Amino acid sequence: MIGRQVIDLTVTPWREAASCLEVPDDVSFFPTKEDLGAIVKAKAVCSTCPVSDECLTWAIETNQPDGIWGGHTPKERRRLRRLWLEEVRKAS
Ligand code: SF4
Repeated sequence: MIGRQVIDLTVTPWREAASCLEVPDDVSFFPTKEDLGAIVKAKAVCSTCPVSDECLTWAIETNQPDGIWGGHTPKERRRLRRLWLEEVRKAS
């Protein structure tokens, strides 16, 4: 995913250490929700990534609608984003 995008490292410097910068061509970080095999492959890469926490936080805070980020699918992130928004509202 990240390796195929134009990366602005001034905004997300953690991407320099991302495990997905170099992955085999058969690994997709934007699989369809039905492609469980591809989801498992992407999550396996994320599970070894040293910046998975930063990646997941960024994806939640910026409300990324697609792809595997921080080892989480869009559906999994939507749940986490709801919880995060509740915490933000309580804190304000
Ligand atoms: S957690 Fe996954 S998607 Fe995020 S930077 Fe790491 S390998 Fe890439």
